[in-house]
Amino acid sequence: MARIVMKFGGTSVANLERIYNVARHVKREVDAGHQVAVVVSAMSGKTNELVGWVENMPKVAGSNAPFYDAREYDAVVASGEQVTSGLLAIALQSMNINARSWQGWQIPIKTDNAHGAARILDIEGADIIRRMGEGQVAVIAGFQGLGPDNRLATLGRGGSDTSAVAIAAAVKADRCDIYTDVDGVYTTDPRIEPKARRLKKIAFEEMLEMASLGAKVLQVRSVELAMVHKVRTFVRSSFEDPDAPGMGDLLNPPGTLICDEDEIVEQEVVTGIAYAKDEAQISLRRLADRPGVSAAIFGPLAEAHINVDMIVQNISEDGSKTDMTFTVPSGDVDKALKVLSDNKEKIGYDVAQSESGLVKVSVIGIGMRSHAGVAASAFRALADKGINIKAITTSEIKISILIDGPYAELAVRTLHSAYGLDKS
Ligand code: ADP
Ligand code: ASP
Ligand code: MG
Repeated sequence: MARIVMKFGGTSVANLERIYNVARHVKREVDAGHQVAVVVSAMSGKTNELVGWVENMPKVAGSNAPFYDAREYDAVVASGEQVTSGLLAIALQSMNINARSWQGWQIPIKTDNAHGAARILDIEGADIIRRMGEGQVAVIAGFQGLGPDNRLATLGRGGSDTSAVAIAAAVKADRCDIYTDVDGVYTTDPRIEPKARRLKKIAFEEMLEMASLGAKVLQVRSVELAMVHKVRTFVRSSFEDPDAPGMGDLLNPPGTLICDEDEIVEQEVVTGIAYAKDEAQISLRRLADRPGVSAAIFGPLAEAHINVDMIVQNISEDGSKTDMTFTVPSGDVDKALKVLSDNKEKIGYDVAQSESGLVKVSVIGIGMRSHAGVAASAFRALADKGINIKAITTSEIKISILIDGPYAELAVRTLHSAYGLDKS
């Protein structure tokens, strides 16, 4: 007997037929004698629709009211998961499986106060563990918890992955299976590179980079939690026949295992390529080249919760003026330019220029730590395709390159092939 957490994403619960199919996956594990908790997302497209309703509420002309109240945003967008948790419990009951739904506040999954992007602080798992021990399947609404203000809080887009891993840690599960619409983690997004290969295993550190650099197959926070709490996490497909041979294998289920790097015997230099669309670049021209200028720029941007990523500062020719370029999400450009213009005198620059619609393509691999020349091959491969590089950042295990939006897919495929990742 094992304790298993199974998470099903939006496309896996997109309609009643698929919810029934999910119930068959759950039944397989229950029939094998395992204790099961299930975490569900909203039906695919539902969360986008709910967010759209919140954002498009008409306002009284001339109103200075804030865009919307984040606590009410959470009350609206958390509803999608409430529906699917109830429907899956009904489907399981129709198969004579003892099951009940749980909302985040009922468990409770306690979060901080950052409505819309809350972090899980604590989960009281005792009640669920007791009921799982009595043979009841817990069907838990993902993406949501209860804030310290006693209000619903959501965990940021893709947050059901994080709900699942956090529940798995809280109930000390033997395994956390993230079921989605692809059958594992690939060397790059298989939807844009059909030659992408499925990885049998990927190290936590690499998955963390892949997720934070744009591969949306797992939410970043879920990977952090899996790494810290050593949750054995698999990414696998809900679209395979629930009763196909090997689907119920306890130790080696089909899919990709996210694990410690020591568990990976043959480590490649490069493991994967990720990309993030909708990046924007802001350049401050003729900036005073003096101590404190970076603090004067990035302090106010941080206070405005603007996520600054790549930063490039030129060496000044005469020692008095320089240029500084950095990237922010496209959606934050106007806000960032406003913050910069409000602080123009304090910072001391001539003009601020911006360009949106850029893409950051990243090459990731733990093997890079011990290999020279990895970055140079990327630059050569992109140059051969005539792709211009606007900025570069590197760390021990990744290289990120900023390019013009229309070249995104070509760049991903070019790098994928340059590092020998194409499936033969
Ligand atoms: P879910 O609704 O199940 O949470 P998501 O849409 O959030 O699913 O994540 C799955 C998607 O992630 C896939 O359909 C795929 O297009 C995308 N993806 C991006 N990069 C990768 C990758 N390296 N490996 C697998 N899938 C990836
Ligand atoms: N339904 C939420 C979203 O679309 C959470 C999730 O699916 O993980 O972001
Ligand atoms: Mg997801």
